[in-house]
Amino acid sequence: MEHKSIAIDGPSGAGKSTMAKRLARELGFIYVDTGAIYRTLGLFALSRGVDPSDGEGVKALLPAVSISMNYGSDGLQHMYLGGGVDREDVTESIRTPEVSDAASKVSAIPAVRDFLMDMQREMAKKHSVVMDGRDIGTVVLPKADVKIFLTASPEERARRRYAELKQRGIVETYETVLADIEERDARDSGRAAAPLKQAQDALRVDTTGISMEESFQLLLQTVQEHMV
Ligand code: C5P
Repeated sequence: MEHKSIAIDGPSGAGKSTMAKRLARELGFIYVDTGAIYRTLGLFALSRGVDPSDGEGVKALLPAVSISMNYGSDGLQHMYLGGGVDREDVTESIRTPEVSDAASKVSAIPAVRDFLMDMQREMAKKHSVVMDGRDIGTVVLPKADVKIFLTASPEERARRRYAELKQRGIVETYETVLADIEERDARDSGRAAAPLKQAQDALRVDTTGISMEESFQLLLQTVQEHMV
């Protein structure tokens, strides 16, 4: 059977993962969070004491890293570091601001992007997927059936991220969260390797000023209208 793929790209905090997850459930597809893969590598670099922005240092780590993922009975994507019985479930520990920063840094290294490419493409070969990231529609799945560029203003995204971190008990000020978002935007869009940008044939969904529910309905409608 021919598998379908929906690519959802956009900046940090635009609500990609929440909405992509729900969209996948609605369509009966698998949700692939590619940011989690970069985060796992970012965590690995930190755990080995390697500066995530040191291209050569991170590249030298690649032969030693083993990243895998699977889907629990909860349907959620679990991430693992290491092989065999000793592998560690890092699904939770990759969600800290420190790892966000490390992920954004390692993801700018071309060798890292090449290294993680197959893992992402394999998922789309084996399953119908909703895949979210930064370069899914432009690089990873250029032939995706529907491409969405999901975005919102930096202030709106910072407000949402701040509320989410607070709920998880992570203490940050709104100003710090906004500064982090702006810094990551600049790094994700400004890097030479697979920068964040809207694919020419992507449909733009801007969720500034509308609720998550309204945003989801807008996304669903857009996908349904364009899926053949
Ligand atoms: O989406 P998330 O915030 O979890 O991604 C963490 C970091 O990984 C992002 O800041 C981005 O730099 C990087 N990333 C990427 N390409 C992807 C997914 C994530 O460069 N496809």
